[in-house]
Amino acid sequence: MNNNKPNRFLSMLGMKCPNCHKGNMYTNKSIFPLGKLLDMPERCPVCGQKYEIELGFWYGTGYVSYALSVATIGILAIMYALIVGFSWKDNSIFIFLGIMITSMIVLQPLIMRFSRVLYLYVFVKYGKGSSLEDKK
Ligand SMILES: [Zn+2]
Repeated sequence: MNNNKPNRFLSMLGMKCPNCHKGNMYTNKSIFPLGKLLDMPERCPVCGQKYEIELGFWYGTGYVSYALSVATIGILAIMYALIVGFSWKDNSIFIFLGIMITSMIVLQPLIMRFSRVLYLYVFVKYGKGSSLEDKK
């Protein structure tokens, strides 16, 4: 086993290339400007791994971002239930809905980015490249 293998989870958090864990997946470090939120180079600047492996590759990230959104709402609901508690006798459910909608709007840029990262990490393994990309 290779002991120098970088931590997969940390590389995902840092949005690094799944093949070399060094190159950045996104052109801009920041999510601003929002219009360039999903701008990424065609290939990894360090190892040359292609990011959009095939045409329309990113369409699958819709399912990933859906799952991430549901998971976020679930975590928020559990936290809210533990801290505030749900009741039919007051407005706690409506306050939660407000918190949920606001956090979904605020977190959407991050969810969109991480869904691409997660999706690409499924198809590209460390040091091996992708199983989909045809070698030229
Ligand atoms: Zn790379």
